[in-house]
Amino acid sequence: MRSCPYCGSTLTFDRMEKIYSCGRCGAVLTLQELVEHREKARAEKEKMLKERRRHEEYLEWWLSSKK
Ligand SMILES: [Zn+2]
Repeated sequence: MRSCPYCGSTLTFDRMEKIYSCGRCGAVLTLQELVEHREKARAEKEKMLKERRRHEEYLEWWLSSKK
């Protein structure tokens, strides 16, 4: 089951049109668009984790330099 990248609701697949549509927010996506959304979301999450780690490293350095 696929979920809407905008609102997280369950998407309905239209076999005739070969598209996914969201009953809650009305978004219409092809499988290709859905994959692109997922890839983008994963890249953003990775970037966020990387930045958080850098921040933690900085914090650690800052705290140790205060001693
Ligand atoms: Zn939606």
